[in-house]
Amino acid sequence: MLKIAKDKLPELLKAWAINAAVFVPQEKGGTRVFQPWDGQPSLTLDGGNTLEPPKDLFFPRTETMYRYEVQGKEAGVTEIPTFDGKMVLVGVRSCDARSFLIMDDVFLTKGYVDEFYRRRRENTRVVALACTQNAPTCFCTSFGIDPGRAEGVDVQMWPVADGYLLEPITAAGRELLDQAGELLTATDTAPPPAAVPGLVVDVTGVTEKLQGMFEHPYWTAVSRKCLGCGACTYLCPTCHCFDIQGENRGNSGYKFRCWDSCMFSEYTRMAGGHNPRPSKKERLRNRFLHKLQYFPERYGKFACVGCGRCLDRCPVNVDITRVIREVKEVAL
Ligand code: SF4
Ligand code: SF4
Repeated sequence: MLKIAKDKLPELLKAWAINAAVFVPQEKGGTRVFQPWDGQPSLTLDGGNTLEPPKDLFFPRTETMYRYEVQGKEAGVTEIPTFDGKMVLVGVRSCDARSFLIMDDVFLTKGYVDEFYRRRRENTRVVALACTQNAPTCFCTSFGIDPGRAEGVDVQMWPVADGYLLEPITAAGRELLDQAGELLTATDTAPPPAAVPGLVVDVTGVTEKLQGMFEHPYWTAVSRKCLGCGACTYLCPTCHCFDIQGENRGNSGYKFRCWDSCMFSEYTRMAGGHNPRPSKKERLRNRFLHKLQYFPERYGKFACVGCGRCLDRCPVNVDITRVIREVKEVAL
């Protein structure tokens, strides 16, 4: 195990910033979000998880896909150079680390490889930070996530009184720590105990139960108070829906993709006007079925990581943990 003093951490980030863009959780407009490290010695890694998940670093809110130009009957397409810079994300919590694996399933498997996502993901090193305190809305352990040790990361960090413990997990993580030089010292200090979320929900059998609930009146009842604001999807680290739109001026234009939300009425509206999900009932049902039934059926894992962001920010308290409990109890 290696250790770095708290006041030396900025020097480590500075070393990493020579070859990569370094992102850390920082305060912005009163909330914590991952932002490029500004080189300041004041770091707030210990302030809990970010309000916004770091998914936009791999999957930006808007992204130009290609440009085009029309000359008479000829049309030319200019591809946008895909991202090839390197990134280091520091302070990623276990729930968000699991969400990266879920996004990988979507964007990199089953015969579909999204080049925009792939380039960013492959060029990024992830340094996780263990949670030793949880927020009241955290329930990551319900999905088998260990708040004290993240999956699929390059380096694992733990906060201790006067600094951080670090353990390289991958060869790339070892390379990162090799750049630290004299900043790290060997220690036999044990990692602190992981946070124990007070919120726990038993997800056993929920997928199977949902398989028989598509037409159940429960969805009418649970969707009644939803405002369709989409906050739950924008803040969710695993939501990944996007729309493709275009801007055209004269003979040229460009196509871009942007985040979309299944909670919006336009999301499934077709060109002819038909909408297979015409009301909040169908839209909210889709959100929960996607996370708890369709994704497990397709990828063998839930598309929720128990980060609690949607519980915390839904303006009318639609709570996925309550939905899971109620689904398991309703009569079929
Ligand atoms: S559904 Fe809610 S709790 Fe689950 S990962 Fe998304 S935002 Fe987090
Ligand atoms: S945040 Fe709440 S009110 Fe807004 S769309 Fe999601 S469930 Fe509905």
